[in-house]
Amino acid sequence: APLFGRLERQAPDALLAIIGLHRADPRPGKIDVGVGVYRDATGATPVMRAVKAAEARLLATQDTKSYLGPEGDQRFTDLLAPIALGGALAADGRITGVQTPGGTGALRLAAELIAVADAERAVWIGTPTWPNHAPIFRAAGLTVRTQAYYDAAQSRVDFDAFLAGLTQARAGDVVLLHGCCHNPTGTGFAHHEWAVLAKEIARRGLIPLVDLAYQGLGQGLEEDAAGMHVVLNGVPEAMVAYSCDKNFALYRERVGALWVQADRPAMALPVRENMLVLARSLWSMPPDHGAAIVRTILEEPALTSDWRDELTQMCGRIRSLRAILGAAHPALAPIARQDGLFALLPIGRETVAALRAEHGIYMPDSGRINIAGLNDETVARFVAALLPHLK
Ligand code: PLP
Repeated sequence: APLFGRLERQAPDALLAIIGLHRADPRPGKIDVGVGVYRDATGATPVMRAVKAAEARLLATQDTKSYLGPEGDQRFTDLLAPIALGGALAADGRITGVQTPGGTGALRLAAELIAVADAERAVWIGTPTWPNHAPIFRAAGLTVRTQAYYDAAQSRVDFDAFLAGLTQARAGDVVLLHGCCHNPTGTGFAHHEWAVLAKEIARRGLIPLVDLAYQGLGQGLEEDAAGMHVVLNGVPEAMVAYSCDKNFALYRERVGALWVQADRPAMALPVRENMLVLARSLWSMPPDHGAAIVRTILEEPALTSDWRDELTQMCGRIRSLRAILGAAHPALAPIARQDGLFALLPIGRETVAALRAEHGIYMPDSGRINIAGLNDETVARFVAALLPHLK
């Protein structure tokens, strides 16, 4: 029998289908709030200024494309660490980090590391979440368990339900946390909740894996990592899966890092050696170009400050659109208090279908919108189309 004869059809990615529908729609006023990338007021996802400058510099100065190692560009990871982890944790001898192909690669490497350390550990994921989370952990052979995270009726974190979920976990299980800018809800833990969470995770002997994919797109670089720092400081062991693909707008270049915090400095080396062995069989070594760009930006203070300025401006654009949406109707008010690109609209799939058919407004059936898909002109039309459907 043919090897591939038993393979079944697979549904295409739901968001890709929306891109296709939007593209085929001839109506001039159509609005795409589906795709999850930052967009400027013209709808473009531009290359950032500092990235262009760094690329020009690399083109002029890079004199070899010879192999690095499975750790990728170590200077990239080391320069990124103070931004992601803060100065104190970046200098902590218990923490070791390597470059990965994007945040996805960081999550997959974390999953494989958990599996070789102890494949019996379950990974707990709050729902709803990024649809790729569960498949990544399952691909490494791990058991995924879910607990409630979001109270859709109130548009807020269901913190009691989340904590109650943790009581089901066995000591040693892994808990996935979104560091900031929760995908798809935009809704994160409050300051005091991070502190409670850190205590509960420590008390129950759980291991946090923080997915930090949007640092700087919520309330600012430092603010967006503050909750994660509380957790890392409160527990012996932890992991951080980081993406530079949104905050440097490098998406297709696939830039990320995985940091692992061991319980004592002597364990950092064995942890690292295992990460390198796993990376070797996953991708041998991560692609260089994007990490070299980030390294070049972080090496040069003028480029770093230009990157920070542009990121702050992107963040400000998202926040001002959030304020407009939040002021438009009481049911949308939570959007003004949320962070990052995404919000879950309090509407059903029939409304999603109606918005598409009657107004050319495109979003997935879940009602998740990318705030940055709007601008000052379209946001008014978007709100006008939405209002009749809100309670
Ligand atoms: N984690 C979350 C929550 C995401 O939304 C994404 C991307 O959409 C990722 C991780 C992966 O990012 P990357 O493109 O760097 O793999």
